[in-house]
Amino acid sequence: MPDAFADLVGQDEAVDTLRRAAASAAALLRASAAGPAAAAEPDELDALAEAAAEPAAPGREPGAGMTHAWIFTGPPGSGRSVAARAFAAALQCVHGTGCGACPGCHTTLTGTHADVRLVVPEGLSIGVNEMRALVLRAASTPSGGRWQVVIVEDADRLTEAAGNALLKAIEEPPPRTVFLLCAPSTHPDDISVTIRSRCRVVPLRQPSAAAVAEVLVRRDGIAPDVAEWAAAAAQGHVGRARRLARDPEARQRRDAVLAVPRRLTGVGAAFDAASALIEAAEAEAAASVTEIDEAERAALQTALGAGGTGRGAAGAMRGAAGQLKDLEKRQKSRATRAQRDALDRALVDLAGFYRDALTMALRAPVAPVHTDTAALAGAGAQKWDAEGALRRLEAVLECRAAIEANVKPRIAVEAMMLALWKG
Ligand SMILES: [Zn+2]
Repeated sequence: MPDAFADLVGQDEAVDTLRRAAASAAALLRASAAGPAAAAEPDELDALAEAAAEPAAPGREPGAGMTHAWIFTGPPGSGRSVAARAFAAALQCVHGTGCGACPGCHTTLTGTHADVRLVVPEGLSIGVNEMRALVLRAASTPSGGRWQVVIVEDADRLTEAAGNALLKAIEEPPPRTVFLLCAPSTHPDDISVTIRSRCRVVPLRQPSAAAVAEVLVRRDGIAPDVAEWAAAAAQGHVGRARRLARDPEARQRRDAVLAVPRRLTGVGAAFDAASALIEAAEAEAAASVTEIDEAERAALQTALGAGGTGRGAAGAMRGAAGQLKDLEKRQKSRATRAQRDALDRALVDLAGFYRDALTMALRAPVAPVHTDTAALAGAGAQKWDAEGALRRLEAVLECRAAIEANVKPRIAVEAMMLALWKG
């Protein structure tokens, strides 16, 4: 039976830190259960929280031990949420190790543990009401007798107000509550300086293509040659690699994106390519959210007793209209996020192509990202030289940055396509 950390690909250092912290957390629980010292337990953990907030004292090993608040950072696909979940499992593990087999591990990893709460932002940001409710529940005594764990995926998408609600909880943590935040980096754009100062940081790196391929073969039973191709094409993103290896539609979408460079034959073609890219992202996003949107709407209508005619039905309907409006707002926000994520995946693929052209123009001894379009990238390298390839790569990266900064996607993509055509 693989243990809770088995899916954390190529992150030996982080796994080591988390294992030691889990062991120290288990020791704390044993100590508080063993003696009449139970009353001393909050002090002990407060001291730990303080130790985390301050620079490590001389002679004291930084990195060991347990604390209340953690941030997992790393590029998308490096396994931030996988690491947070694995650590949560180790904290709930009856052996204190993250064995992967006991009920504590199992329920945490399958998302059904009563004391582990997962916040996954559906829209563009995590709101303050959601965060307040969560913080309140996280303050209660863990029903399993171990820890209350709150995992916030994409903590960089917290609104300012939600961030403040979370900060309050982290500043005065309930004795048995642990916050696990996931964010791309500890840059102030991603996580506020004050939250950062209260957390231990676990940096994850982009796993190598070989490590990603290995896990696809071992865990998902994918053929080695397909796994190798997908791992390279996904540029270290484990989830993306698995999707490419398994989902023919994901492969088709990638093919369409990688066909863009050779279609850019003029201004008209550049605008056509921009439209095609935007529409493909919209279609992909719509396919991913339509089903869940409809299910939510039907569930809400059932809960509200749509079509009722009894006394008070008119009042109930007024309330219902408000709730439906709320739901529609949430769904719209989720759809926007899904579109942006789909478009970003396409831009990362495209950036990989121009990166290949650049490394070939420079004759750098590195493997191409997209083995299947390597010949095309080689032709580009000859035609554009290193500078031309670099300018194009920068145009793609600028487009990603512009969309992240809320430039309308169509405008950003059109500008990019023109730059890719002109060079
Ligand atoms: Zn276990």
